[in-house]
Amino acid sequence: MLKDKTAVITGAAKGIGRAIAIAFAKKGCNIVLNYRSAVSEDLVKEIEDCGVKCLAVKADVSNFEQAEALIKTAKAEFGSVDVLVNNAGITRDGLIMRMSEKDFDDVINTNLKGAFNTIRHVSNIMLKQKQGAIINISSVVGLMGNVGQANYASSKAGVIGLTKSAARELASRGITVNAVAPGFITTEMTSVLKEDIQNKMIETIPLKKAGTPEDVAQAVVFLAENRYITGQVLNVDGGMVMN
Ligand code: NDP
Repeated sequence: MLKDKTAVITGAAKGIGRAIAIAFAKKGCNIVLNYRSAVSEDLVKEIEDCGVKCLAVKADVSNFEQAEALIKTAKAEFGSVDVLVNNAGITRDGLIMRMSEKDFDDVINTNLKGAFNTIRHVSNIMLKQKQGAIINISSVVGLMGNVGQANYASSKAGVIGLTKSAARELASRGITVNAVAPGFITTEMTSVLKEDIQNKMIETIPLKKAGTPEDVAQAVVFLAENRYITGQVLNVDGGMVMN
């Protein structure tokens, strides 16, 4: 079903985005691998070894023009954009009373506006194609809130509002838009947390373990393949949030 389709994954040089790119490649998708600072040739080769094409495109998705160039490059290279995964994200943690305006703005601009920017530019393409799947990576923190993450939680809650609005706007042309809300996943983003804090977090997870980037990637691929789920948030969190 995904074979020979084109998937654009933002922030895909490492962590969850990397696992998502590999998972789509294994399904036979050509990959547009967006990165901000650097991408290893080994990753591009690993993807190409799945028998698909991989184009690495440098772009800061928080920048409207760079996001437009990313999507246009994908369309020009492969002729269609069938899947968009908005994965790029950052944290700048701190208590509200000490949080700088810049730390608030940077997180909103990357995590929320970055997703808007790519959806804004891909929607014309998908509307003309009359098909497509958009998956936005939110977080359980966007559902629960978290001490020290007012900026991040706001951005991830915003991503859910963006997801549901885009799902309603694009549904009539067969385009699905969903969010995945990971819980505690082992990546560079979470490895900066002290070990005792990591252990405390794991204690609160019903499945009593951290998730892997591959756990998230599997859920993203599922939402790209399924053609009758839209406007939903799928938690991949070991049971942290039960709706
Ligand atoms: P990482 O920090 O490991 O990777 C994030 C990636 O996003 C990096 O490759 C980074 O590139 C890229 N990125 C950041 N800003 C931009 C930008 N402006 N434009 C393009 N790319 C950018 O994080 P994870 O893999 O852990 O997280 C991936 C997503 O999953 C994020 O949205 C995160 O919020 C979300 N998430 C993660 C959880 C976890 O437990 N790990 C839990 C819930 C959600 P560079 O290194 O060059 O800056």
